[in-house]
Order: sequence, then C-alpha cells, then structure tokens
Amino acid sequence: MSMPTPPSSPRIRAAGASLVVAIDGPAASGKSSTAQWVAQRLGFRHIDSGALYRAATAVALARAGDTFDETTVLSFVGELSLEPSRHTFAPMWNGESMEELIRAPEVTRLVSRVAQMRGVRAWVDANVRRAAEGRDVVVDGRDIGTVVFPDAHLKVFLIADPWERARRRLTQRHGRAPTDAEIAEETERLVQRDAKDATQTVQAKDAVLIDTTYLTQAEQVERIVSLARVFRDGGPEGLAPRS
Ligand code: C5P
Repeated sequence: MSMPTPPSSPRIRAAGASLVVAIDGPAASGKSSTAQWVAQRLGFRHIDSGALYRAATAVALARAGDTFDETTVLSFVGELSLEPSRHTFAPMWNGESMEELIRAPEVTRLVSRVAQMRGVRAWVDANVRRAAEGRDVVVDGRDIGTVVFPDAHLKVFLIADPWERARRRLTQRHGRAPTDAEIAEETERLVQRDAKDATQTVQAKDAVLIDTTYLTQAEQVERIVSLARVFRDGGPEGLAPRS
C-alpha cells in the first residue's frame, strides 16, 4: 500500500515558524480591542503599534510642551520601552506604565503629527518587529500589512461607518449611550484624524476587508479567529505564509 502524500504546499507554514496576523484600519475601527481579543483566543501576543506613536507623543509633550519637532521627539524615545505582559506588549516610560497617559485627549490631538515623522515611524517599526521576533503575534495599526509586515500570514483591514465608530468610542469611554450631539462632535474629530492619517492608513492588496458597522465585536473576533486558524493549522493553497 502506498503512503499517503503529505501536504507539500510550500504555502503551508513550516512547523515552528511564527505567525503574524496584521489588523489595520482607521481610528476607532475597533482594531486594538479586536486584536487583543483575537490574540487571547489564539494564545498569541498582541502588539498595538498605535500605543507606541502615542507613547512617543506623550513623552515629547511632557518633556518639551507641544512645540516639539522630530529631533526633539527622537531625543526622548530612548526613555521608552515595549514590555511584554501576559497577552500583550505595553509601552513603558522609564519602567512606568503609560496606560492612562497615552489616552489623554492632548496626546490624541497631537499623535498624527508625530506619526508623520519618518524617524519616529522607523523607531516604531523596529520596536514592533523586535517584539514579534520568534513568537505568534497579532499586530494592529495603520500600515502593518503594507510596511511593517508586508509578508504577514493574514491581513485584515477593518472599516466601519464613522458615526458608528464615534458611537462605540463614546459608549466605551463614558459607559453610557451618547447623545446624537455628542456623536456628531466625535464623528467630526474622527473624520479629521482619518484625514491626517490618510497617507499611512493603507489597505494591503491581499487584506481581507471586514466592515464592522453591523457586526458585534464578538462576531468580528470570531471571523478573524476562524481565518487565523486556517493558517495556524495549515493554510489552504493560494494563501502565503511568511517565510
Ligand atoms: O490606533 P491609535 O488610534 O491608537 O493610533 C494613534 C495614532 O498613531 C494614529 O492616529 C496614527 O496617527 C498613528 N499610527 C500610525 N501608524 C500605525 C499605528 C498608528 O501612523 N501603524
């Protein structure tokens, strides 16, 4: 009796090789919370690249006020590090958590300016790649599937209607249903940030587009987890792994 032929597709990831799931999309599209949840479900680590842009902005703001330039920002980023915790990597400032600092409204207002600085982008990319080395990761941002990991196994691009994104963000922030006037104001802020981030928010040609406007978060997580399992357990032909 002849032996069954083992799966020989070079597209199936080599045993032991690490796997990268890239999740990109505009502001408040639910990338980070979805990525974190997906990572937990798969037993992967989550890396939030936006948190690093925010950390660079927060440290520059604290040290130099809001008139900093690229040289100033780069002179302070050495004080920052990206540290592993159970399921995620978090930016730390001289060993201290930055969880609250990086979500301050002033940081959100200035972060797009910092994210335009080429030296800062190179610093973020290097830190994210280093954190991902040798482990399975879910990385979220704007350019993960195009610039940081153009050879990621699975690329997802999340979009949602701006009004719905604003409604979700406010509900999460205040723990109550926002009024229409509040949503309108937040929508305006989001659309402005989308415009400032437009150059670096790029959907990879081979990304799976998911419109989450009418999906619950559990549904979006489920879709991505199902796709990722295809890769983890041996991808079908036509879908290429990272070498
Ligand atoms: O994802 P989050 O909204 O926290 O990202 C904060 C900012 O960081 C974005 O508005 C964008 O300017 C920048 N960013 C980026 N490229 C990434 C991730 C975030 O330019 N990969």
